[in-house]
Amino acid sequence: MTEKMLKFVSLEKKMPPKRAADNRRQDFNEIYDEFDQDRAKEQASRCSQCGIPFCQVHCPVQNNIPDWLMMTAAGRLEEAYEVSQATNNFPEICGRICPQDRLCEGSCVIEKGFNSVTIGAVEKYITDTAWENGWVKPTKPVVEREQSVGVIGAGPGGLAAADQLRKKGYQVHVYDRYDRAGGLMIYGIPGFKLEKEVVERRSRLLQDSGITFHLNFEVGRDATLAELRERHDAIVIATGVYKSRDIAVPGSGLGGIVPALEYLTASNRKGLGDDVPAFEDGTLNATGKNVVVIGGGDTAMDCVRTAVRQGAKSVKCLYRRDRKNMPGSLREVVNAEEEGVEFVWLSAPKAFLGDTSVTSVRAIDMHLGIPDSTGRQVPVEIDGSEHDIPCDLAIKALGFDAEDIPTLFNEPKLDVSRWGTISVNFKTAMTNLDGVFAVGDIVRGASLVVWAIRDGRDAAASVHQYLEKRAASEKRALAS
Ligand code: FAD
Ligand code: SF4
Ligand code: SF4
Repeated sequence: MTEKMLKFVSLEKKMPPKRAADNRRQDFNEIYDEFDQDRAKEQASRCSQCGIPFCQVHCPVQNNIPDWLMMTAAGRLEEAYEVSQATNNFPEICGRICPQDRLCEGSCVIEKGFNSVTIGAVEKYITDTAWENGWVKPTKPVVEREQSVGVIGAGPGGLAAADQLRKKGYQVHVYDRYDRAGGLMIYGIPGFKLEKEVVERRSRLLQDSGITFHLNFEVGRDATLAELRERHDAIVIATGVYKSRDIAVPGSGLGGIVPALEYLTASNRKGLGDDVPAFEDGTLNATGKNVVVIGGGDTAMDCVRTAVRQGAKSVKCLYRRDRKNMPGSLREVVNAEEEGVEFVWLSAPKAFLGDTSVTSVRAIDMHLGIPDSTGRQVPVEIDGSEHDIPCDLAIKALGFDAEDIPTLFNEPKLDVSRWGTISVNFKTAMTNLDGVFAVGDIVRGASLVVWAIRDGRDAAASVHQYLEKRAASEKRALAS
């Protein structure tokens, strides 16, 4: 088999073809085409089948990457899919949106000198092929168990936990305040990174597997946590983080200054065919406007690229550090630049100007000073460098904090950290409340889809252990 591998010396790294920027600016479809089979085989064959595969070590779900690459190179795609789905509930989603340059591909040993294997694109190809060929099937548990588990939140963390628990035969109920499942995968991340049908077909599959969805159901409004604990034998909280960080500068109350997630949700809903009044009336729509996005993370990248597709007059991204020190993926910066976004590095807002609505952002230039305790250089203002940037839509993309879950859920005893994230036992994912587990962003703070999946899988294993133990002790009590 190894004669099919180790081709990195003679074969160059090639990503699937990327659509031309002019063309992709016109719609919200994904920007990469699919590999064809020959190209997928060829790219998979570049892997050197490392004895200690650092790609796998640095993949949060520890995917068995060398094995599925080897199977792809040999044209054994159904087996490749079986191996790939054994460790990841949504491989086609991770293949599309993991920041591979910071995870698996960034750790690939041939990266230095030969450019990494295109792991994400092959993972996407394997699973998309599996869907096309009908290899992805609803779960049919070997045993049906009476015990039920309530999962609060239908994002990747909650859905991965639900999927794993259903495989064990539990009766799984997922509650979400939105009208669609998927969490940020459906309403946060734009279609040009992750087409919505990819998420919706997963939600349908989970439903066909026997998971019951209670949508438009907000815990805190429609039931308290205590009520759900009465209803179910265990609970998994996977509510994510949604409180936008604000900018405290003069003029921040003016019209035309909007939080990133409201803006992206409106755009995603519009794409899904919903009625979105705030989009129609222009409040959350960039068409014809000078747009300034403030922030340097992945959310900011998604906002600038959405604004371009909505037909903004100009799109600028203001970030207080430089290109090298931004938290977002470099690959997304390149995509944004190709699509016509202008990055204003080392620049921060000092004020928003305008009468009732914003007309410009007063920005100040920064330089990077000495590193702080985290090792990052601190941005420092350059006196007298203020300048005004025309703006009629300012989008704040400065990150997210946790909502006050104990108050929302009417459960003051639930332990949270000083940042409001839920505190869990890191071995079991259980909170301080018996039988209540928590996963994903609400535990880690804003993170990644693949980490939420990992947490959901780990928590499901812990829930299973907990319920087995409880059932055994109930049996013993009955017998005595
Ligand atoms: P979420 O996906 O946030 O899901 C939480 C769910 O809980 C939601 O559906 C919500 O409606 C529901 N909920 C909340 N409160 C309640 C309640 N009281 N009652 C009932 N339901 C409730 N990650 C990547 O890996 N790659 C990317 O490219 C990427 N891009 C991103 C772009 C944007 C704009 C954003 C905001 C995030 C991005 N992320 C990306 C991060 C990623 O989306 C999150 O880390 C991930 O979705 C977290 O999963 P989760 O299940 O913890 O929470
Ligand atoms: Fe890479 Fe993400 Fe796939 Fe892991 S899940 S192999 S990190 S793309
Ligand atoms: Fe293959 Fe790179 Fe992983 Fe090594 S690190 S097994 S070369 S993908």
